Amino acid sequence: MAELALFKSTTAAAIRAATPPQLAKHFSCKRCSLHNTRRYVVLGEGSLPCDVLFVGEGPTRADNLTGRPFSGSSGRVLREAIDDALKRVDRTNGQLRLYMTYVVACRPCDSKRENNREPSAREVRTCLGRLNAVAQFASPQHVVLLGKVAHASCLDLFPGALKLYDPNYIHRQGGAGSCEYQRFVRELQDLFKGTKHRKVLRRRIRRIK
Ligand code: SF4
Repeated sequence: MAELALFKSTTAAAIRAATPPQLAKHFSCKRCSLHNTRRYVVLGEGSLPCDVLFVGEGPTRADNLTGRPFSGSSGRVLREAIDDALKRVDRTNGQLRLYMTYVVACRPCDSKRENNREPSAREVRTCLGRLNAVAQFASPQHVVLLGKVAHASCLDLFPGALKLYDPNYIHRQGGAGSCEYQRFVRELQDLFKGTKHRKVLRRRIRRIK
């Protein structure tokens, strides 16, 4: 079982070393054109299996340089919100196992210099097999979909998932001082309160080829 502390500083190499061999093949994936501009495949970070799986849109420029999901300024908003929500329900990361990943695992952009764009429908479809493989290992009790791309592309894979704001949107609204942040933390708090730590989690997740 892979275990990584979400709030400790870690490296792409440590994430890779902790990734189950069955998932490690995705680090060299070239199934869509996003492989041309990436530095790292940002597969995910956290505990496998997990109690709660977070799925965002795609790696940011910062994530692409570190190999860690949600490692830039907007990602820090998510990590801070998770930390706040855990404190409010008197639990720690570890008592509740969490994993973060993305709809597409390589930074969606047209060239290395350009800013992120939304991943295309084709890129999302191509990467869904990798997301499904991660989800099989994660076997979560709850899934949180972050932002409209994740909402639109993952509901078939995760019916009943909680839909929340993209952390980048909260960051643009002022981060931890904003109403959106407070709402986000309250929703996570409710989710965490209703999540039991289970030793082995097995749930059927629809396979996507
Ligand atoms: S985005 Fe997904 S499908 Fe495309 S190259 Fe990266 S890992 Fe492979």
